[in-house]
Amino acid sequence: MKLQSIQISGFKSFADRTVIDCQEGLTGIVGPNGSGKSNVIEAIRWALGEQSAKQLRGQKMKDVIFSGSNDRRPLNRAEVSLLFDNQDHYLATDYAEVKITRRYYRNGESHYLLNDQECLLRDIQGLFLDTGLGEGSLSIISQGNVDEILAGDTGQRRAVIETAAGVYRYKKQKTDAEKKLADTQANVDRVSDIAHELA
Ligand code: ATP
Repeated sequence: MKLQSIQISGFKSFADRTVIDCQEGLTGIVGPNGSGKSNVIEAIRWALGEQSAKQLRGQKMKDVIFSGSNDRRPLNRAEVSLLFDNQDHYLATDYAEVKITRRYYRNGESHYLLNDQECLLRDIQGLFLDTGLGEGSLSIISQGNVDEILAGDTGQRRAVIETAAGVYRYKKQKTDAEKKLADTQANVDRVSDIAHELA
């Protein structure tokens, strides 16, 4: 799996549609202070499903939408697409190319797309879980994260190690299965109550 390109439009300082071609050998982005380097990384994080506005240096999710400048009015929509080369099928899908898109409107309307087809956030999270790029992955360490890890308690540090070791996927599957079991048990209890009343 390889990130081939990043398309950004209306996201933070990127008012116009901008395409970043991640050619072989790309190791860094340079530019003056405030030119948008961190915004590129945040665009990647956001497209992958980041739900915390604070992790994106905002207060509310609508803060990711271009908020205007001296000569431009604010925009109504932010959109980021990531295109991955998946010829090695590292992402568990038959597609040799995977494009994920997140679109967000100022009124709170939100869309996720997988290869241009509407999908759920859960589908995107599932695809990237434990690939090194998923939710809470350590591939993106933002400013402040290092301090958080150092200042965290043992539980928080354990979570970091479990994420790095790939245990997170199984913990999540276990939690989901436990929830399904609890829901099923509640249904069984309800059915036996009804059967008892009818007897
Ligand atoms: P540094 O080198 O100082 O870390 P940087 O190149 O990483 O800077 P960013 O932090 O990515 O720069 O970009 C900051 C710029 O993005 C600021 O000028 C800020 O006003 C602008 N910006 C952030 N959110 C928005 C938004 N919603 N609309 C318009 N501009 C925004």
